[in-house]
Amino acid sequence: MKTHIGDAVLELVEGDITKQDVDAIVNAANSSLLGGGGVDGAIHRAAGPRLLAECRTLGGCATGGAKITHGYNLKARHVIHTVGPVYRDGEHNEPALLASAYRTCLELASQNHCASIAFPAISTGVYGYPTEDAARIAFRTILDYLSAHSEIKLVRYVLYGAAPYAVHQRVLEQMLAE
Ligand code: ADP
Repeated sequence: MKTHIGDAVLELVEGDITKQDVDAIVNAANSSLLGGGGVDGAIHRAAGPRLLAECRTLGGCATGGAKITHGYNLKARHVIHTVGPVYRDGEHNEPALLASAYRTCLELASQNHCASIAFPAISTGVYGYPTEDAARIAFRTILDYLSAHSEIKLVRYVLYGAAPYAVHQRVLEQMLAE
């Protein structure tokens, strides 16, 4: 599914983020930035050991923040490592922290001349954010950013499996119709 926002495109695809041929891919990391499971493990395996070596120099990352590295063996030139919130009950600032994670990644992409960026569904794996709530926050933040920043031409949102793809497609279609 593709939608146009000015000159930019927001695209939903089902697939593996490590395979994306974009300027930057986003990693849903933990605050140590020293590797983990899920999408983080997959990105480190695909990028090779130099990625972890660079991450060791970064001093971790706060929840809602992001840091950028090279992409090494990936097709993407850069990896933007962000830390989404661990979901408790939605009353512990999780929505603002999740929006901040997306926004900070987009700001780093702009600053580093990345016109195309791919996101995974941050916080919706081990961190337990309900998929539909997380999708609304992600798309609101991305759509708002693209409306105000013409330097980003493509945001590809990569869902790992048919079920999360279907949920995200439904949420985005609803939001575009509102
Ligand atoms: P978090 O700790 O932020 O919840 P996870 O890595 O556990 O991060 O999960 C985030 C999302 O990334 C989940 O929806 C998971 O299904 C998805 N995911 C896992 N591997 C990949 C991959 N290779 N490409 C894209 N998405 C992935």
